[in-house]
Amino acid sequence: MTNEQLQQYVEQLSLDVFALPFEHKAIFNDRLKTTGGRYFLADHHLDFNRQYLMDLKIFRGIVIHELCHYHLHLRGMGHRHQDSDFKEWLNRYGGLRYSPRLKENEKKMYVYECKKCRTLYRRKRRMNTERYRCGRCRGKIFYKSS
Ligand SMILES: [Zn+2]
Ligand SMILES: [Zn+2]
Repeated sequence: MTNEQLQQYVEQLSLDVFALPFEHKAIFNDRLKTTGGRYFLADHHLDFNRQYLMDLKIFRGIVIHELCHYHLHLRGMGHRHQDSDFKEWLNRYGGLRYSPRLKENEKKMYVYECKKCRTLYRRKRRMNTERYRCGRCRGKIFYKSS
């Protein structure tokens, strides 16, 4: 998705969900790490985290969340997370409350190797190399990297 496509996506979603036009800029900001999006009070533009595109349902929920900030703020209503207007809109329009954690766990793997046959084992959790043996040759395994 390019910045232009993002802009169109946000404009369309704003019309479909809120029946209100989005008339400012939406751009990808690759410096966002753990947040899916951000609304800027000063110039009303929205930043989005491209990484959340891998799940379009989640991304949609993030865009709706930011659009809640946007439309409420422009209307002089409670646009902060703790405001009841915001909470109500988030529920009504199906915005996500928090950006879910990106699946770092899936990327972070512990790699073990058999000393004898060199088979690699990838595990989500650390394993006790004293207790386990290679499934192929029963050789000793050792921790390689994560
Ligand atoms: Zn927010
Ligand atoms: Zn082995």
